[in-house]
Amino acid sequence: EVYLDYNATAPLRHEALEAMLDALRSVGNASSVHAAGRDAASRVELARQQLARLLGCAPGELIFTSGATEANNLALRAGYSSGGILATTAVEHPAILEAARAITADGPGTLVELPVDRDGAVELAPLEAACGQGKVAIVSAMLANNETGVLTDLEPIIKLAHEAGALVHTDATQYVGRLPVDLSELDVDLVSLSAHKFGGPQGVGALFVRRGASVPHRPLLIGGGQERGWRAGTLNVPGIAGLGAAAEAARIHLHNESTRVTALRGVLEEGLTSRLPDCHINGVRSPRLPGVTSVTLAGLPADALLAAMPEIAASDGSACASGAPTPSHVLLAMGLSRPDADSTLRFSLGYATIEHDVERAIEATVRAVGEVRTAMTATSE
Ligand code: PMP
Repeated sequence: EVYLDYNATAPLRHEALEAMLDALRSVGNASSVHAAGRDAASRVELARQQLARLLGCAPGELIFTSGATEANNLALRAGYSSGGILATTAVEHPAILEAARAITADGPGTLVELPVDRDGAVELAPLEAACGQGKVAIVSAMLANNETGVLTDLEPIIKLAHEAGALVHTDATQYVGRLPVDLSELDVDLVSLSAHKFGGPQGVGALFVRRGASVPHRPLLIGGGQERGWRAGTLNVPGIAGLGAAAEAARIHLHNESTRVTALRGVLEEGLTSRLPDCHINGVRSPRLPGVTSVTLAGLPADALLAAMPEIAASDGSACASGAPTPSHVLLAMGLSRPDADSTLRFSLGYATIEHDVERAIEATVRAVGEVRTAMTATSE
């Protein structure tokens, strides 16, 4: 099988596997003071340093979590703890959108969902209006979209939010390890990420909380006070060690990988658009992540296309969310019709993708389009 679903999850990097095996073979609770405990704690602190280097922040600004979903929930709960307006974008992952809806539904505040244009760029006017009212508590906007790869221009959002006294959170889950992040330059207060998107294990991630930012302390998990009281519970030492090793490998190879993957994505898009002239690439006019292609093949249901190309692991528009047949809210927000949203495939390439994978994906897609079209003509006659 050709694996082109890096936005769902990336294969584990061998550096991460080695670090995890090593941690799994040793005993120790990172909170214990004996040698075994100190060994576990030193693995955790190494990982914190490795992640901090990838992000350009201080190790002490990072809280390990079970993934980006938890980091997002933690960030929104903390940032929104005194009510007001929670502003986010219409194209966020459900781990923001659904969490934001639930959090604001509980209290007296309001949720503002910023629309996007056809290219996936966030419209700022509603944020300006909300900031004008002066009650915005937190603004959360993703750095890169998981379905289309479209990047968000965060600078104007940060400026508006900070001028209004609001905190800024970004869900950087798809961005970290794929394009350079420098949190000493990007003035956000909170950042979420998940290890498995950059070659670490599933079930572990982190939340960055900027030192000195006035983020209220609102843990979701209360107990033994680990992670400076932000996230209680015995640390997942093997997972965290894997996250750290993956972060280091991603940092070392980031430049080469992003250049190489961008070129491969170019080959894929050139192959698809030249052989399937009716196809449309979503977000193509916007800056995007290196490896993501969201392609609409009008009139051809994505599930039928995927079934006709079993040798390729790709996804329909929004496979991250669930197996449920709901149309992609991201593509709808970008103005696609429901049938077009349901006729969209996502290929996401990554560090281990080779040109042969891309060639096979082009062949398989062209063949699947032919087969599905023939089958649909046959049934409509
Ligand atoms: N945010 C974004 C943008 C994502 O793509 C994902 C994973 N699909 C998440 C959050 C959630 O990550 P996790 O499932 O690892 O908690």
